[in-house]
Amino acid sequence: MEKDTSIAIIGGGIGGFTAAIALRRQGFSPVIYEAAPELQPIGAGITLAINAMQVFRELGLADKAIAAGHRLEHLWITDEHLHPISRTALEPLIREFGLPNLGIHRGALQQLLVEALPEGAIHLGKGLQRLEEIAEGVELKFEDGTTAQAGVVIAADGIHSAVRRQLFPACRQRSSGQVCWRGICRADTGPWQGRGTEAWAPGMRFGIVPIAAESIYWFAVVNQKPGIDWAKLTKEELMETFRPFARPARELIESTPASQIIYNPLNDLEPLPQWFFGRSALLGDAAHATTPNMGQGACQAIEDAYVLARCVSSWPYGEAFAKYQARRKARADSIVRQSRRLGRIAQLDSPVLGRLRNRVMSLMPSSLAIRGLRNVAKGSFL
Ligand SMILES: Cc1cc2nc3c(=O)[nH]c(=O)nc-3n(C[C@H](O)[C@H](O)[C@H](O)COP(=O)(O)OP(=O)(O)OC[C@H]3O[C@@H](n4cnc5c(N)ncnc54)[C@H](O)[C@@H]3O)c2cc1C
Repeated sequence: MEKDTSIAIIGGGIGGFTAAIALRRQGFSPVIYEAAPELQPIGAGITLAINAMQVFRELGLADKAIAAGHRLEHLWITDEHLHPISRTALEPLIREFGLPNLGIHRGALQQLLVEALPEGAIHLGKGLQRLEEIAEGVELKFEDGTTAQAGVVIAADGIHSAVRRQLFPACRQRSSGQVCWRGICRADTGPWQGRGTEAWAPGMRFGIVPIAAESIYWFAVVNQKPGIDWAKLTKEELMETFRPFARPARELIESTPASQIIYNPLNDLEPLPQWFFGRSALLGDAAHATTPNMGQGACQAIEDAYVLARCVSSWPYGEAFAKYQARRKARADSIVRQSRRLGRIAQLDSPVLGRLRNRVMSLMPSSLAIRGLRNVAKGSFL
């Protein structure tokens, strides 16, 4: 595509910002339209796996991310007493790819992405309402009544994507049957140093990820039950719900101000028939929102961004979008499927089946876990 083609990116999240940075590296000057009136960092952490870190290395961002985050060199699955079921040392992958998995504050990640973009690249308070193909490109109509034009559009507007709803109205979100609370607290990272921990109890999970000095990100997931309005749970009720977990886990909830605990039902997206239509392509959660069980939603958005920028720089938009989809869709759809399955296994309601699962997992060699993680780490982008 001509480097002077104007590219509009809808949505200033991890996917949209990474796409803008990758496109600038290819010589384009994309403009981001973000609905929020100001960029407010989400008060939660995130893990970036080696596949995303490889893209960041290509974009000159890996060292900055490592400096702002916390290297994760071990992954532990434990029972509710925090006794290990499986311990995976990531060292073979870190050596092979020369990069770690990372725990990082979402705000710190947002900041380093924004800093890699020039002044004026992000237009805030621009919620897209509709787009319309016109002879010379696409007209964007915003909720504030203004319009803009672009040669092509990249929709990175998240799981509720307005662009996807317009182009593929039949696509539905699916409930996972699980709900999640997340938070960040100041705590001694010593006991959790260098390690992502997920503790499993019947019908619930508790995750612990250090993200910086004295800063821990936690998440707590429970299977939905009829008749409970989970969104209204107070912090005390949340602590009571997660009482099966050992005290060091519950203390992290206790140390987090109630106003900073984020609640979400966990949903994903039915696979779409395709990721582009005319001059518009979808990316990240807009195209393939997944449950967070593999920690891959943002990582996949980052892979999308890089591949799409490379395709757009090498072919006219129609061909570029088709090649982008061919390179990425099967992998992203497979992550969505695997992640859903993993969520069900992690949150078995039956204590008997749970114990059996734990026994089988404790007997599995860690080389098997490394093989699975290597497939994800390889990525589908270079
Ligand atoms: C509990 C939980 C834990 C997770 N943990 C991880 C993890 O550890 N690792 C990982 O890789 N992923 C994780 N994810 C997934 C990850 O958060 C998402 O996959 C990722 O944020 C998707 O990025 P995105 O840019 O596609 O969309 P988003 O981050 O949703 O960004 C979309 C942007 O578009 C804007 N927007 C929306 N509508 C419009 C509009 N009409 N016009 C203009 N702008 C608009 C929004 O304001 C937003 O800024 C987790 C998700 C959840 C729910």
